Amino acid sequence: MDTLAELARRVSLCTACPLHSGRVNAVPGEGPDDAEVLFIGEGPGYHEDRQGRPFVGPAGNFLEDLLQSIGMTREQVYIANMVKCRPPNNRDPAPDEIAACSKYLDRQIELLNPLLIVTLGRFSTARFLPGQSISRVRGRLRSVNGRHIFPIMHPAAGLRRQEMRAAIEEDFAKLPGLLDVLRMQAAPPSAAGRIQDAQSAYPTEPAPSLQPAFQDTPAPAAGETPATPADTNPPPPDEPPPGQQRLF
Ligand code: SF4
Repeated sequence: MDTLAELARRVSLCTACPLHSGRVNAVPGEGPDDAEVLFIGEGPGYHEDRQGRPFVGPAGNFLEDLLQSIGMTREQVYIANMVKCRPPNNRDPAPDEIAACSKYLDRQIELLNPLLIVTLGRFSTARFLPGQSISRVRGRLRSVNGRHIFPIMHPAAGLRRQEMRAAIEEDFAKLPGLLDVLRMQAAPPSAAGRIQDAQSAYPTEPAPSLQPAFQDTPAPAAGETPATPADTNPPPPDEPPPGQQRLF
């Protein structure tokens, strides 16, 4: 799987877990090979299964609205899921299905090498932050084994509950400033001056210094149990999980 196109072809032929038997189409993911941002959802639903594309149903429409609200389009980002085939009746993907499919997501991350990974919902968040409630960690940047992770609730949750919609919109609004900071961190020294100007373009949300704020979080062990179901209570104020620090 040396390219994303080759990976997609492998996914379309995959029979490594029971989900292959009920699919109309596998949904490998889509986006430019050089996308800065990788969004990771849960798994394909009815519309995604029919079209073979991620996030094309109502939740996908909301995701596109959210991207538009921050001046981005879905064509600029890469969108993938934890499992590439639709679970029956849109049930949660099982741990063994997630484990069987993880090699594809792992390789997508390697090939894309994105500046930022946005996890949408509890399943993709649990891949990087196992055992932590999405409502506690959402909207806060984490560094996990050198990858920048920014958890946000799944757009489908925002379609069901107004308070979740507001939380999702609030977290999306942080992305432009966050990306500017990460670009600055990744840029060669000669570009520092230009990017410093970009930072000052966000006077209402000053870009934090990343250097002292990052703490690596260990990757989940193989076979580790995914996070507990989404906790809908608001997170306690300013109380980061052990071993991590809040950036925003
Ligand atoms: S969900 Fe993943 S592992 Fe299972 S059949 Fe589809 S591509 Fe293969």
